[in-house]
Amino acid sequence: MEGVPKFVDTHCHLAMTELSEDLCQVLERAQAQNVTGVLAVGSDEESSLISVDIANNHAGLVFGAAVGIHPHEAQQFSGKMPFGLREQAKRHPVVAVGETGLDYYYDNSPRDLQQQLFVAHIELARRVDKPLIMHVRDAFDDAFSILRAEGVPPKGGVIHCFSGTYQDARMALDMGLYISFSGILTFPKAEGLREVAKMVPLDRLLCETDAPYLAPVPKRGKVNEPSFVRYVYEVLASVRGMEVEKLSEKIYLNVKTLFGGVE
Ligand SMILES: [Zn+2]
Ligand SMILES: [Zn+2]
Repeated sequence: MEGVPKFVDTHCHLAMTELSEDLCQVLERAQAQNVTGVLAVGSDEESSLISVDIANNHAGLVFGAAVGIHPHEAQQFSGKMPFGLREQAKRHPVVAVGETGLDYYYDNSPRDLQQQLFVAHIELARRVDKPLIMHVRDAFDDAFSILRAEGVPPKGGVIHCFSGTYQDARMALDMGLYISFSGILTFPKAEGLREVAKMVPLDRLLCETDAPYLAPVPKRGKVNEPSFVRYVYEVLASVRGMEVEKLSEKIYLNVKTLFGGVE
């Protein structure tokens, strides 16, 4: 349909109870706001498997799942990728490996275990030939050196919920990665991030909610959900001086290129 933006939420934790308890209504509200695709992302073994079930049961809207262990949980998994997830990663409807990466802001798990687990995800993404979804917070130097040493898998990947500097973005782009912006982009203090968002090439941009976290302005303080992704698109379109319909078309193509899956 012409003139109607189609929004895709490329990173959402639908398996978390805040959203899963009320899943049908969450997805209905998303569709009512022209959301035509949601990627269900796991952060540990259980939520990854639930994400796969959700993608199977709601295939019309939830176009795929990502399986992985969040760096926060690296200690719980002793820095290793569970066998069940390695098997699951090969199969439909898994379209990506993650979320994985490094988080030195919270340091919820020892850094060496975070790094080991990140390497395991990179190897898995290469083996199953799917892209990586990466979470990097206050850890860009180490994340890039691990990616350089291991090599970016052929299907590439995305730095989700990007919070770095222009130099960090530049490095990610030079490695062929996509950059995804979340509700942080709408926060009053995120002036620096909005400057970065202006400069990312259009063919490397993605948008997400990271729900149930990080509800965008004007929904701050609420449980975030995919229907709110439009606020991220609107701010991104306005900082880039584009119409939101045009931006959402481009991002839709980027989603297709990186993950496939969407119709
Ligand atoms: Zn994350
Ligand atoms: Zn996440």
